[in-house]
Order: sequence, then C-alpha cells, then structure tokens
Amino acid sequence: MSTDNISMAHEMNAGITGRMSQFDHEQVVFCQDKATGLKSIIAIHDTTLGPAVGGTRMWAYASEADALTDVLRLSRGMTYKSALAGLNIGGGKAVIIGDARTQKNEALLRRFGKFVDTLGGQYITAEDVGMSTRDMEYIKMSTDHVVGLPDYMDGGGDPSPVTAYGVYMAMKAAVKHQTGSESLAGKKVVVQGIGHVGEYLVQHLIKENALVTVADIYEDRVREVVNKYGVKACNTNDVYTQDMDIYSPCALGATINDDTLKLLKCAIICGAANNQLADETVHGIEVMKKGILYAPDYLVNAGGIINCYWEIIGYSQEAALSQSELIYNTMEKCLIKSDAEKIPTYLAANKMAEERIAAIANINKKF
Ligand code: NAD
Repeated sequence: MSTDNISMAHEMNAGITGRMSQFDHEQVVFCQDKATGLKSIIAIHDTTLGPAVGGTRMWAYASEADALTDVLRLSRGMTYKSALAGLNIGGGKAVIIGDARTQKNEALLRRFGKFVDTLGGQYITAEDVGMSTRDMEYIKMSTDHVVGLPDYMDGGGDPSPVTAYGVYMAMKAAVKHQTGSESLAGKKVVVQGIGHVGEYLVQHLIKENALVTVADIYEDRVREVVNKYGVKACNTNDVYTQDMDIYSPCALGATINDDTLKLLKCAIICGAANNQLADETVHGIEVMKKGILYAPDYLVNAGGIINCYWEIIGYSQEAALSQSELIYNTMEKCLIKSDAEKIPTYLAANKMAEERIAAIANINKKF
C-alpha cells in the first residue's frame, strides 16, 4: 500500500470510529461479497438490554456515506424504541446497498444471512423497506438470528394488527390526558394512509364510535375502506386542513413540518408512521408551542418490535397484543414527564428510554 493510501485509510478509519462514538455505537460491520454483489453494513448500537434487534433495509443509496448515516441513525432509533417499550433487547439495524427490485436474489440474501450468523446472535435481523417475508425465509436458510417469518415457520406473521392496537392505546391515553376521559366516541380522527396498520386502526376507531375520515393515494383502496366501514374520505392534499381532533399519520414520515404546522388545527397527533417530525429539535418544540399533543411515533408504533420480540422468545399474538396494551401506560408516563419538566414529548420519551438503559447498565456492572 502506498503512503498516500495508508494515510487515506487512516482518515477513513478515524471518520468511521468518530461517527460511531458520536452516538456511542458498539460495533459496525462492513460486509461485501463479490460473487453475489452484496454490499452491506450492520450497525449494533447498544446491547445493554439484550441482543441488538432491527430490520434490514435494502436501498439504492447515492453513496456509501449515506448508507452509513442511515444505518447509524436507524440502529440508534431501535435502541430507544425497544428500551421505551420495556423489551429486553437492544438496538441494531442493517442496510444492503442496492436496488431491491433488480439486485435482490436468493444467493445475495443467503450470503447476507451468513454475515449475520457470524455475529453469533448479537444482532437479530428482520424485515424493513425493500424486504419481504419471503426474503426473511432466505436469510433463515443461513442463520437462526432472524425474525419476521411467516406463521407457517413459527414466525409472528404480519405485525400490523399488534402495531395498530398500540397506536389505538396511545391515542386513548392521549385523549385521557387532555380531556379526563379515554373515550374516543365522537372524536374526529383523520387516518392518513390506510395500508396494513391504517385499516386495523380504523376498525378499533369505529368500534368506539369515533368519527373517522381516511385518505390514501390509492382511490380504489379508499373506496374499499369507505364501503367496508362507512367512514368518510378526503383528498390527500386536504388532510392537514380537515376539521379534526386527532391527526393520525399512518403513511410516510416527515409530515409534521413547517408547511403542515401552519395548517394543522388538531388537538392530538398520534399515528404509526416512523419519523413524523421533519426535524425533531425544531418541530417537536413547534407542536408543543401550538398546544398540540404530539404522541412520539416510536413510543406509539412499538407494536411492530413487540411482535418481533415475542417471535424471539416464543411467539404468541395474544402475548404481543397484551404487551402492546402497555403502550397506554408508557404514553401516560411520557405526558406526565413532559408536563412536569416542561419539555416536548419526544424529549420526554428519549429521556425515559435513556433512564431505563442507564439503570440496567448500572445493575449489569454490579452483578
Ligand atoms: P403500508 O405500506 O401498508 O401502508 C401505507 C399506506 O399509506 C399505503 O396504503 C399508501 O398508499 C399510503 N400512502 C402513501 N403515501 C401517502 C400519502 N401521501 N397520503 C396518504 N396515504 C399515503 O404501511 P404500513 O405497514 O401500514 O405502515 C404504515 C406506517 O407505519 C409506515 O410509516 C411504517 O413504517 C410504520 N410502521 C409500521 C409498522 C407495522 O407493523 N406495519 C410498525 C411500525 C411502524
């Protein structure tokens, strides 16, 4: 290696370990395999509470630096989500760099599984963007450290019913905090995105006589849900100007931003979508200033990881649903903390997660 190459390699190294230390990541593993074209990064953020669990995302990142940024950010998010949900697992995530539509195949996934297996269970993978249940089956051929498998393989199947139930619980806790009653009867709720989670959520809401309006980019989907449940529908562009008590984002992230905050007049935001605040430090404070109760997304949508957790320890949907019910209590605690410390709800949730990890790290040291 030339002197130039050695110094470049040193810079790269300092850069990566420097980035790892920014959020205190434990381990980052770079994987490549020429034969299958696999290029992947596995990030283990924190294993204080247990093995790192988090999905694998396959995405055509513009650069390896972007892939690294994403995997570091997402794995840290998983630590917080699982800690807050009271689970005995830590946070991890993997990314496969490539176009899932054209570059994904059995050999690549099985090779990826072999890399996961070398970590000896310190990282357990699952489904994420660009991955399907079938892909988890291929990964399973190379490692036991994978969840998100179909029912017929003793997996947890679709986590959406568990996620939707958790969202419903968080919504009831939020309403109780504001009104003194947890009833959703007569509450105007707009569900943005009626995919897997959205439809299950609508079922809970109409059972309780909430006044539901739905929006989705697919008109046939909207028609189907309107006919099935007798709910109202609105155009996707009109979601933010609806007369509503509760806005429930169940489609994409970053829908709480400078533009939408000018329009939103709801009392509560509570939905399943990940990363709802475009910029946590800005919009987390702005929602609070507007007097809107923002239910932190990663607290609310923990049903998905709860479902994975039960798959690790022995799957039972009943148990997963019971644990999802506890999201109600976590939501209550978060809102009490936010009020007491006069901090935005996202920050209260972060602190609760950090406090649990610190307390367990402390006993781990002693015993
Ligand atoms: P999904 O893909 O089944 O449903 C999303 C729906 O949103 C689709 O019907 C889509 O057409 C619609 N949509 C997309 N853009 C829209 C827009 N601009 N306006 C209105 N509708 C739009 O996804 P899902 O599994 O129901 O998950 C919903 C959200 O919750 C995602 O952000 C996901 O990451 C998050 N989440 C899901 C789970 C789970 O268990 N499925 C767990 C945790 C978090």
